[in-house]
Amino acid sequence: MVSGPGGVGKGTVVSELIKRDPTLWLSRSWTTRGRRPGEAEDAYVFVSRTDFEERIRQNGFFEYAEFLGNFYGTPIPEPPAGSDVLLEIEVQGAQQVLAVNPDALLILLEAPSPEHQEQRLRGRGDPEHKVEQRLAKAAEEVALAQQMRAHRVINDTVPQTVDELAALIDEARVLRTSKQQSQQVQQ
Ligand code: 5GP
Repeated sequence: MVSGPGGVGKGTVVSELIKRDPTLWLSRSWTTRGRRPGEAEDAYVFVSRTDFEERIRQNGFFEYAEFLGNFYGTPIPEPPAGSDVLLEIEVQGAQQVLAVNPDALLILLEAPSPEHQEQRLRGRGDPEHKVEQRLAKAAEEVALAQQMRAHRVINDTVPQTVDELAALIDEARVLRTSKQQSQQVQQ
């Protein structure tokens, strides 16, 4: 899972990461947020609140959370065999995933500086009051992630950040394999 406040560059890093590692399967979230100007049509499945609530009733989400007045949720993942699921989600959702899958890797991406983050947020077309809300929310998110054993990575330059994430993922895979092997020995 990759989490982190708005404006830290999660989207760019995640898309570079999946280009590099085709065994990562990126989940496409549902949201009740409207599409931003210039945002890709497939960035999310954009739905009404009614449709989102209907999917909640049908237990169709692996996790979901309300974030600044909108719902965001991960549909139950159906990755191809041999793939690892990659989620780009906020921290309350990550907390739900860790509750059912304590070995899931959580990476908290942070901006090199608050000025940097603010500049990025302003550059993507959100109205000013939303920018302010997202900046205020950022400190809250970082504090929560710190309580959750998140691996913190500063997004200085994209290639370097992608290297760091790939290394953390490799490490998690090695740990998982050795855990599976020791469980097999015990059986
Ligand atoms: P944005 O509106 O900037 O696209 O997303 C707002 C926040 O929601 C970001 O932190 C993003 O990572 C998070 N988010 C996106 N998809 C999901 C999801 O499926 N579940 C949860 N819990 N958060 C999500």
